[in-house]
Amino acid sequence: MSKIVFLVADGMAGWPLDSLGGRTTLQAAHTPTLDLLAPRSRCGCCRTVPQGMPPGSDVANMSLLGYDPHAHHTGRGPIEAAAQGLQLDPDDLVWRMNLVNVTELSGTGIMLDYSSGHISTPVAAPLIAKLAELAQESPFQPIQGIQYRHLLVQRGGAATDAARLLIRPPHDILDQAIAQDLASFSTFPELQAFLRTAHEFLRSEPTSQATSIWPWGQGRPLSLPAFAERFGLRGAVVSAVDLVKGLGRAAGMEVLEVEGVTGLIDTNYEGKVDAALKFLEHGDFVYLHVEAPDECGHMGDAELKKRAIELFDQRIVAPVLAALEGSDATIVVTCDHFTPVVRRTHTEDPVPFLSFRTRAPRTDGPAVFDEATAQATGLFLPEGRDLIPFCLEHTA
Ligand SMILES: [Zn+2]
Repeated sequence: MSKIVFLVADGMAGWPLDSLGGRTTLQAAHTPTLDLLAPRSRCGCCRTVPQGMPPGSDVANMSLLGYDPHAHHTGRGPIEAAAQGLQLDPDDLVWRMNLVNVTELSGTGIMLDYSSGHISTPVAAPLIAKLAELAQESPFQPIQGIQYRHLLVQRGGAATDAARLLIRPPHDILDQAIAQDLASFSTFPELQAFLRTAHEFLRSEPTSQATSIWPWGQGRPLSLPAFAERFGLRGAVVSAVDLVKGLGRAAGMEVLEVEGVTGLIDTNYEGKVDAALKFLEHGDFVYLHVEAPDECGHMGDAELKKRAIELFDQRIVAPVLAALEGSDATIVVTCDHFTPVVRRTHTEDPVPFLSFRTRAPRTDGPAVFDEATAQATGLFLPEGRDLIPFCLEHTA
């Protein structure tokens, strides 16, 4: 049976930059493997962020894995809970909970830091344990994660008004007033009370910069139809980041653990490739995700993003191609969303993709692979969830 590999460079696509002579980082990067593949591939664009939804990695990766975010996306918290393998009731509400630094928990408060100075897990752990103790008489249960990223389970919360509160992600409101979020919290007094209790404790704690918890991204527990049943493929995901692992676990896919993956430019590329190829000895589909280009986009660092894309080409795409060239396989290269360096955040532009079939290379693909050449082919998939079926069709 033919194998299929998705190589996903998070946030790889971008917009033209003056500093690169009007080129995007993908166009400016030296990518000999992508340039080799493009003319022999079907290239096009697909919309991974459905209209009206925020361009988050959670939404976009869910689309690429073949699921409709409108039907299945419940929030960031539930996906991270799935990554942890948390046992939840269907009527629970799961929040992502940051340890943050705010000046004060009042109408004049400002969000100073979404990460409490990138608090370490050993410093955060006792704080979360104490918060769990303080929450004992409430429906809230703080769950320790890593660094500043934790979860808050609200027992029986899915049917309450808390499920509909609009709370902004803390990384989106740096140095901004938090009054509108506090006004939302105040409409659900039980949560507001726990927030105050947590604030009183955290600001009196000298061990960290955390002064508050910040629950956001809440939703019902995630449940996805099984990937194996949906596509008839034994699938796996390889990633450094929780949300991709959570999507994979919720879809019943194997989550391949690799030592030394960081989500940054210094990640263990060879380890990821080895794990993916080893899985393909008995499995059918691997979703190999690399986070670094997105991080560089958020940093606003064009040179570093260019370098991240070059490393992706050299240390992910090239060895995967070399290993699969002689067998019957389809290699798909794409990204979940744009992270333009000029914007330093995600945008909802349809993403470029290429699909290369080892046994039936095409001769009419574009000379190189980038945002413009993919768009110029005119091939457009309006729903990101159709990309896997599209590639499978051209595999049959
Ligand atoms: Zn992303």
